[in-house]
Amino acid sequence: MRVGVLALQGDFREHLLALEECGVSAITVRRPSELETVDALILPGGESTAIANLARSFDLFEPLKVRIKAGMPTYGSCAGMILLADRVLDAVVGQETFGGLDITVRRNAFGRQVDSFETDLEFAGITHPPVRAVFIRAPWVESVGNDVEVLAKFEHAVAVRQGALLATSFHPELTGDNRIHRFFIESIARPALEKAAVK
Ligand code: GLN
Repeated sequence: MRVGVLALQGDFREHLLALEECGVSAITVRRPSELETVDALILPGGESTAIANLARSFDLFEPLKVRIKAGMPTYGSCAGMILLADRVLDAVVGQETFGGLDITVRRNAFGRQVDSFETDLEFAGITHPPVRAVFIRAPWVESVGNDVEVLAKFEHAVAVRQGALLATSFHPELTGDNRIHRFFIESIARPALEKAAVK
């Protein structure tokens, strides 16, 4: 399996490192030809509006949207969660997302109270100890569609999954604990790719 990390803006280096530590081959994605070579993708934390605008400039916006819709396993952290959301509250005027996840997120939701904080979370599918979650001007999930599973909560849903899509409000790539990356690879991406291969 080859996993791409969208590397237009944000903390993509930390995601690359986490993937390498998980033993998967990881590459940066900045152009459509690179996107074509990956089986799964990570959308990093950063600034969702900047990432969406850069994706437009790099002719990646539509190809990304199409791949995600076609079932490419994709994990978004923080800004990446916003980019996967079908609906965004407190968005910048005209803000676009790739979509795919039937959720409504509120941008900078925790950030209105306190810019950043850390807490321990119970995460469905990951056994003890709890996951240390770093929130930085983070969105929360305000509502979810019927097919969306909530994996972790802190006041609101902060980790969700729908099919081959995973999103967290927080940044596991910043803690050195790779269990969420491993969960994405082993429990979401690998089974989804194996299922697609036998079809
Ligand atoms: N507030 C940022 C946004 O709206 C997300 C912050 C982050 O990724 N740490 O894109």
